[in-house]
Amino acid sequence: MNPLHTETQVVVDDIAVPDGFAALVRPTHRGSTILFKTAADFLGRGAAFYTGYTYGLAGTPTHYALAGKLAALEGARHCALAPSGLAAIHLVNQTVLDRHSHVLVPDTAYGPTRRNALELLQRFGVETTFYPPDAGAGIASLIRPHTRLVWTESPCSLTMDMQDVPAIVAAAHERGVQVAIDNTWATPLYFDALGHGVDFSVQALTKYPAGHSNVLMGSVCVNDTAAFQRLKTTSDLMGSNVSPDDCAAVMLGLGTMAIRLERHCASALKIAAWLERQPQVRCVMHPALPSHPGHAIWKRDFRGASGLFSLVLEGGLPQACHFLDALSLFQLGASWGGLHSLAAIYRADPLGGGVAAGPHDHLVRLHVGLESPDDLIDDLARALSALPAGACA
Ligand SMILES: *Cc1c(COP(=O)(O)O)cnc(C)c1O
Repeated sequence: MNPLHTETQVVVDDIAVPDGFAALVRPTHRGSTILFKTAADFLGRGAAFYTGYTYGLAGTPTHYALAGKLAALEGARHCALAPSGLAAIHLVNQTVLDRHSHVLVPDTAYGPTRRNALELLQRFGVETTFYPPDAGAGIASLIRPHTRLVWTESPCSLTMDMQDVPAIVAAAHERGVQVAIDNTWATPLYFDALGHGVDFSVQALTKYPAGHSNVLMGSVCVNDTAAFQRLKTTSDLMGSNVSPDDCAAVMLGLGTMAIRLERHCASALKIAAWLERQPQVRCVMHPALPSHPGHAIWKRDFRGASGLFSLVLEGGLPQACHFLDALSLFQLGASWGGLHSLAAIYRADPLGGGVAAGPHDHLVRLHVGLESPDDLIDDLARALSALPAGACA
């Protein structure tokens, strides 16, 4: 062969590197094109779609490594990745539902889950019924002949309603209906969704698994291989993909998730119990507090609690805004699950298009981060004492 021209030399990558490299962190595999050795391999590449390499969209070793690790944590056979937690929720909807189907969604579900049903699923002819989160076995009376899916979320966003997931699963399965859960709050470490019979376990990896407020990603774990194949095919048809660099970031986060969760749990519980004793606080919604209406379910089904809970202050919305503005260690922002403590405020939305604050005209949600809980209590105490006189009923 003639010597290569420089135009070719710059394109070709045939440099051999020394063998024997080993490190604790996996290399990140980036790639859109996947190479095949023979024409026959190329023509037959479809056979590798679910378990091998066909095209970047269908996965690289980095995607398989993260999906495999998440499946192991969930006690699941399979895991599909999605570009955000909401995209993972929609992936389940898009996979299971069609224009003849009916889906049940808890009334106090994560706001964007409600909007996904109201504004997007509806456009494709899917019918949604929002049901009371405490329905339990009573979900049976809401199941219709064309019901295909029941969503659960426990605790539900903002109002922190606990759901009797095993009772809902039993009632749904008896009628041939599948059950999905948004398990973002507890993570598989604190609630074993598949072990409780749920068919689709969704997590916003954006929160505790990534853990550093720097990545958006979601996952869906299942045991049924046919269901996994439908999820992966649907994701491929939507052209959905996550970046291998983001997968690597989630992998790093997962390594410390168990110890982070322990600290989030202990600090949040200490702070929630303290808040409950303050006269300016009307109520604290945290499932691990004995005062929570869903405490018995939490104790029966969960192995721990995370750092997210809600409270309602005495007085109205202006007082609550004063309180948030007076905080300094707690920064204001949505999303959660990272190192930093966060506060957010939500108004009641009786029409239910967005977020639902339940029966309250405002609700404050706290995410307790990894700072010293004593410093966080000082911050909260200062903000409570700065409330305008007469704000407390
Ligand atoms: C944040 C969140 C999601 C969505 O995750 P994104 O990655 O932000 O889309 C879903 N469910 C719950 C309960 C959440 O808190």
